[in-house]
Amino acid sequence: MRHVCPICGQQTLDDKSGTFVIAVPPNIPGGNIQIANANWQGCSSCGEEIIPDDLSKAIEQTRYQRLGLLSPEQIKQVRARTGLSAVEMAQIIGAGDKSFTRWENGKSVQNKATDTLIRLVDQHPELFADIDAQRKPDREPLIRNYFESLPTLKGGNPFAMAAHGEPLSSAACESIRNRLLELANASQA
Ligand SMILES: [Zn+2]
Repeated sequence: MRHVCPICGQQTLDDKSGTFVIAVPPNIPGGNIQIANANWQGCSSCGEEIIPDDLSKAIEQTRYQRLGLLSPEQIKQVRARTGLSAVEMAQIIGAGDKSFTRWENGKSVQNKATDTLIRLVDQHPELFADIDAQRKPDREPLIRNYFESLPTLKGGNPFAMAAHGEPLSSAACESIRNRLLELANASQA
């Protein structure tokens, strides 16, 4: 049965099935894209083709694949595995806050370098924590200063150091004993 074409208004829109062939721009290698076992509609009057969502997704997937890039669907899957928000993912790889959402929507196409980073987040997320730490150059001196100041702290606040597992000095023990005696005397009075 023929349908009314939404473009030309003629009742010349036919259901079609088989291998769908679509020409691609020259920057995509491999010639025309062919999707087997496809269903779509074509108008014999104006030549319009109505492509359903699943076919359109299959074409998109093939385009990205030919370019060596993750498809929007695959990018979504990578993020789902990390459990991070789109903004967090963008920050991890050093892109603009809205970039990741655009790649997931297919509104923009990630370049090859970015595509590599997204694959790395998927396969080696720990690398990004290391790089983040390296980017905070004051972090290591802060830790070193802390450890170097421990002997000073020990002298100044023996109880704080005892909480860090240091043995209490005899002077500190003596001061605790005196304080306990004071308290005992005060309660007796
Ligand atoms: Zn038509």
